[in-house]
Amino acid sequence: MVRECPYLAGCPFYEFAKLKGTKRALVAAFCKGTYETCARYKLRSTGQPVPKGLWPDGEMAQEGAAAGESFASV
Ligand code: SF4
Repeated sequence: MVRECPYLAGCPFYEFAKLKGTKRALVAAFCKGTYETCARYKLRSTGQPVPKGLWPDGEMAQEGAAAGESFASV
């Protein structure tokens, strides 16, 4: 059975990764893997705001990073 995060549709990180064809390891590990451990998923699933630029592994995008390295809230 394929595991997929229930928040795939509309997730800015996932859309970014798809568009760029990059971050495949994070997508495989989180979005299509153990999504329960994703920092974005954990916040959203508990009704908390998701900071812009929060990566699934809990890292924050650098201030002033290139466009697309920051994400809107899911
Ligand atoms: S980044 Fe997190 S919240 Fe977004 S689709 Fe992947 S696992 Fe789900």
